[in-house]
Amino acid sequence: MKKIVVLLLVASAFSCKNMQAVASKDNSDPTKYIKVIKEKDLKKMLYVVASDEMEGRETGSKGQKKAGVYMIDQYKKNGVSFPKGATDYYQHIPAAYLNAKRNENLQDSENIWAYIEGSEKPDEVLVISAHYDHVGIKNGEVYNGADDDGSGTVAVMEMAKAFAKAKKQGHGPKRSILFLHVTGEEHGLHGSRYYSENPLFPIANTITDINIDMIGRRDVEHAKTNNYVYVIGADRLSTDLHNAVVAQNDKYTKLDLDFKFNDPKDPNHFYERSDHYNFAKHGIPAVFFFNGVHEDYHGKGDEPQKIEYDALTKRTQLAFVVAWDLANRENRPVVDKK
Ligand SMILES: [Zn+2]
Repeated sequence: MKKIVVLLLVASAFSCKNMQAVASKDNSDPTKYIKVIKEKDLKKMLYVVASDEMEGRETGSKGQKKAGVYMIDQYKKNGVSFPKGATDYYQHIPAAYLNAKRNENLQDSENIWAYIEGSEKPDEVLVISAHYDHVGIKNGEVYNGADDDGSGTVAVMEMAKAFAKAKKQGHGPKRSILFLHVTGEEHGLHGSRYYSENPLFPIANTITDINIDMIGRRDVEHAKTNNYVYVIGADRLSTDLHNAVVAQNDKYTKLDLDFKFNDPKDPNHFYERSDHYNFAKHGIPAVFFFNGVHEDYHGKGDEPQKIEYDALTKRTQLAFVVAWDLANRENRPVVDKK
């Protein structure tokens, strides 16, 4: 009799504990939401973003703005709003800023942003970035930039969809996430520089930038498999960030992480060549996911039919699980290097 009572007490204590775990949002396992990131959705969006209709998305062009409207429509469809403190999905950047370093007669352009507020530490913000501009039309040919950086553009949108779904089901991120589509990258990282000089959320509260630029193809170094991604910059400011990338990949995506271009002596200097650099230079830990260059890099052949959608999906899932960890972990990544 007594024994049974004890057992019953133990059992009821157990179930209370379980209930509490649900109430306090156990976000330890993202598995269910990794599956929200789907090859067919990425493909569908990329065929629009990198279509001739968008005219190569030259900074400030009609085509770029059209791509922006499409992207915003997707955010609306997925129930992801613009950030708190903004009046819409645009951060306007005047032409004067875009042409200040070198006058290229660029027109006014916009960064596009969307946002999911954190449930426990809303003031701490993770940025997930990708540039949505490309090089436009040359000699009557549309340069569609499917890999550069249509791939990163749709990856960020798809990640937002997964986080939004998690939030709807009571597993929203504990920290806030800013989904940031920057402009003017091809002309000198202008959009990310503008954001870093005019941040919507204080730089001190920005915990990390995850930047995605070209993740839909493979380079000649990896002719035999697309199951890899270059990881650049993660350990330059924060050992925690590097460890998070390695651990999440080991656990969920199992890509071959290639750190070759992370070597500060690498002559390509990719670390300084995409938008994460404008965060890193302000002391924000940053990681850049990249597939390397290929024959169609900045060429007219960078088309959506040449994208390897299985690789795009898996690399997006890696960025997602890293973002999930950073947004939900107890402590933000410590900056332990300079
Ligand atoms: Zn690019």
